[in-house]
Order: sequence, then C-alpha cells, then structure tokens
Amino acid sequence: MSLIVTGSVGIDTVETPDGQRADDVLGGSSIYFAAGASFFTKVRLVAAVGEDFPEHFQEQFQQFDVCTDGLEQREGSKTFRWHGRYHENMNDRDTLAVELNVLGEALPPVPDHYRDSKYVFLANTHPAGQMALLDQFPEAKLVVADTMDLWIETEKDLLTELLGKIDGFVLNDAEAKQLTGESNVVRAADKVLAMGPTFVIVKKGEHGAILRHKDGTGVLPAFPAHEVVDPTGAGDSFASGMMGYLTAADDISVASIKRAMAYGTVVASYTIEKFSTHRLSEIDREQIDARLETFGSHLDIGAGI
Ligand code: AMP
Repeated sequence: MSLIVTGSVGIDTVETPDGQRADDVLGGSSIYFAAGASFFTKVRLVAAVGEDFPEHFQEQFQQFDVCTDGLEQREGSKTFRWHGRYHENMNDRDTLAVELNVLGEALPPVPDHYRDSKYVFLANTHPAGQMALLDQFPEAKLVVADTMDLWIETEKDLLTELLGKIDGFVLNDAEAKQLTGESNVVRAADKVLAMGPTFVIVKKGEHGAILRHKDGTGVLPAFPAHEVVDPTGAGDSFASGMMGYLTAADDISVASIKRAMAYGTVVASYTIEKFSTHRLSEIDREQIDARLETFGSHLDIGAGI
C-alpha cells in the first residue's frame, strides 16, 4: 500500500525557552511527516519549494526513503518560511513570522505513478492545496487531514468544506477550541465529528491524545520524555507514525487506529529530541519498535482496575 502526502516544506527558525535557537533549518509539515512515515511504508511527496531552497536540505532529506518525484522546485518563487518561539512549558508557541510564499500558489502536478495511492495525508498547509490533492484521489481508502491556527483563522470556510470530504482529522487542543468554540476537548471533538469525518484525534501535547471515532473512543498518554529540545514537528510526526502504520497494516478499524496512535506517539517522542529532522535521521524501525514496547509496558495498568 502507498501513502501520499502534501503539506508545507519550510525553512524554519526556532527559539526555545532555554535560549537555544536554530536558524534556517529544514522544516515543514510534509517533511516531518514523510520522514517519519518512511519507517513504515513507501511515501510519496507532493509539494513545492522556491528557487532559494538550499541544496543541503535536499541532502538532509535524501536520507529518508521518500519518493520526491512530486517535489517541485519552482523558478521565480520563494520557499515557505516560519519563525516560532516556544513558551516555558515547551507546548505553547508563538509564531513570530510566517512567509507563505510558494504555499499560496498552486499545488504541483501529481506524478502519474502516484495515482494508485490509497492512503492520503493532507498535512498542515493552505486548505486550497489540501483540497487540490484530495480531489485527485476519489478512490482513496483513507484520507486524513491536519491544520493549524492560521488556516482556522483565515480559511475557515474552505476548511469546513474539507471536513465534509475527509475520513479523519487531527488537531491539537487549542486548534479544536479555536475551530469549535469548545474548551472541553471531548465536546470539541464531537462538534468536529458532526462536520463530517469518521474520526477525530485531538492532541494535547505532553498530555497525550484522544480519539473520537463513530465506532469508539480511545485515550493515549504521551511518551514520558525527560528531555525536550524542540517540539517542532511533533504533531506531524505523530501523524506520520499513525498513517505509516495504518498504511502498512492496511487496516483502518478502531483497534488499528489505537495501535497506530501509539506508533505516532513514539515517532513524535524521537522528533522532539533534536532540532529539525536530525533525530529521525539517527533512528531506525527497530528502535521505534523497541520504544513502542517500553511505551506499552508503561501503559499496562493491570486487570481489574
Ligand atoms: P508542528 O510542530 O507539527 O505543528 O509543525 C511544525 C511545522 O509546521 C514547522 O516545520 C513549520 O514549517 C510548519 N508550519 C508552520 N506554520 C505553518 C502553516 N501556517 N502552514 C503550514 N505549515 C506550517
């Protein structure tokens, strides 16, 4: 089974509260997603960068087994840029600057050999780009989307239309509140379900994630991390492990989604240990599975409780 993704490819500047910062590093939702999902399945990327996209980013990304035939370097355009600063709790963050650049332009063409993709992930990007990819895969087995505060603020109508066409939606608690007006995450998730998807996953940072599915509910804590260097990409990495696992298993039952969420949690727990994709380029599937086992043992609450 093949997994296709579109989303941002960015040049990020990240500041953390302990005074560390990374200037102009490889980022973007589809980068974190494709890198993480490549541990599970074949991933196909559709995205655009500008002529300023640094060559060493290509090399950094080449380490991952991702098909980049759909990654267009567009002449006359500039790459998406994002500058964020994390709060003391390493969960909340402020966007200090964002330059949409090529993200505000048309989606690049989808290569013909991507056409048989059955699993589609619409990573955080302009909802017009998400819709453009989605419309080309009417036969998909599973379509899941992510979004972010900027798009809820500026493109709510398009996002609402998108919600009517997808199977699953992942968002964090602040975004769920912003989208629905509900601060209770369960009520917020149910309001999102009423807008169309079969399931919604609300991520709550270090407090884990909640699944609301038309056929059941699931809760999962986060992996207990003792060192968080940079949380950027945690959400995309969570989605990557989840979608990567679901694609490889070719099983979209509630039980499979719950197991997939545990994989997502584990991939995210690696991403946050270093800036950019640097930690992901050091690990392999065996390490992911080993950490999943540790995570599983933490979750063992025993019978009869
Ligand atoms: P996450 O930490 O998982 O929410 O994703 C972080 C990534 O999202 C960063 O690498 C940014 O480049 C990218 N990003 C930030 N703002 C946006 C936006 N409005 N649309 C798409 N991607 C974004």
